[in-house]
Amino acid sequence: MWALQDARLPTGAVADVVVDRDRIVRLGSGAADGLEDLVDCSGKLVLPAFIDAHVHLDKVLIRDELREHDGTLAAAIGAIHERKRRYTVEDVRARARRVIEESVRLGTTRLRSHVDVDTIGGLVPLEGVMAAAADCADIASVQTIAFPQEGLLRDPGAFDLMSAALEMGADVVGGMPHWEVDEEAQREHVRLCFELAERFDRDIDMHVDETDDGGVRTLEIVADEALTRGYVGRVCAGHVCSLAAADDAYAHRVIEKCLRAGISIAANPVTNLVLQGRGDRGLIRRGTTRIGEFRAAGVNVLFGQDCVKDGFYPFGRGSMLEVALISAHAAHLTNRADLDFALRAVTEAPAQALRLADYGLRPGARADLQLFAVSSWAEALRLQPPPEKVWFGGRLVAENRITSLLNRAD
Ligand SMILES: [Zn+2]
Repeated sequence: MWALQDARLPTGAVADVVVDRDRIVRLGSGAADGLEDLVDCSGKLVLPAFIDAHVHLDKVLIRDELREHDGTLAAAIGAIHERKRRYTVEDVRARARRVIEESVRLGTTRLRSHVDVDTIGGLVPLEGVMAAAADCADIASVQTIAFPQEGLLRDPGAFDLMSAALEMGADVVGGMPHWEVDEEAQREHVRLCFELAERFDRDIDMHVDETDDGGVRTLEIVADEALTRGYVGRVCAGHVCSLAAADDAYAHRVIEKCLRAGISIAANPVTNLVLQGRGDRGLIRRGTTRIGEFRAAGVNVLFGQDCVKDGFYPFGRGSMLEVALISAHAAHLTNRADLDFALRAVTEAPAQALRLADYGLRPGARADLQLFAVSSWAEALRLQPPPEKVWFGGRLVAENRITSLLNRAD
């Protein structure tokens, strides 16, 4: 048994966090009394390790090999095709592993990755990401989502590959209904995803309405399907950008349905800030969904990294602290309650979306922790330091040290 002594909790209180094997067993003032194996925190901030619930590990780090394009979602998807044809298992595995390792260094120990399943790359991307996840099982938990990036009806053969992916061990059923050519096909896409999820008893995590076109409304199709089938609390909808452009009557109706269906919303402001709004002139949209309204309604909202140096986004480094900061800018999050919301969006909210029973800063939770040399979450956000230490299941898995010198004249 060992403990973090005098750590600052996000609430501002100072407490000891006692760990036994892979679990937090006690938390509170004086909880470490009598223990000898102590990490002296002297008021430094302890947080549960971050969760990145929306990332694409199969595509990471390919940016330099792609042709230039106009920066839109459609052009990025097209530009990746040529590279995707050349994927090998070892290629995907090595790139995914690098980003998982980088994420762990920066305090993220659980990831849920979409992985393309289509007739271009077949099951190679999934094989590669699953191999990387196994390579990194000592430092992180990585789930995979079978993601039909090219559509299900638009890409004949993709549905059978999705079945094969789930048989191979993909954890979650993905989807991208707005990518189909008309509303009938979108409805069929959603139906097929739920059919697969029921057949394999898996949760669902779809890309939904990642477009500026307010007329694209597959979120309601997804919510209705979840309610009809009783798939409550088992669906996550990513992006949902078009909702910002839809009329208020639709928005209010569908937000209420999302609440009833227990749908989590993965707003990924970091990439949508650069992907969306490219057709706008003058007033240029931020490209994010209605984050404030989902939040006010009580819908579970999380922020994901989404992309790391791929066809969609040239930046990203697996830092959920950076994701929280950029998202705070995109969603006008500045007061204390807002910053608490931003913290929740990279910790408790993705934990809820992943339906984790053992997450958080509390007795009984898995000891996935990180320690920052600052005194508050607001300071962590502002200063963006790497965590000094990161623990995964009670084991110290990463340490960072920064040296900074300022040489003044005598
Ligand atoms: Zn995505």
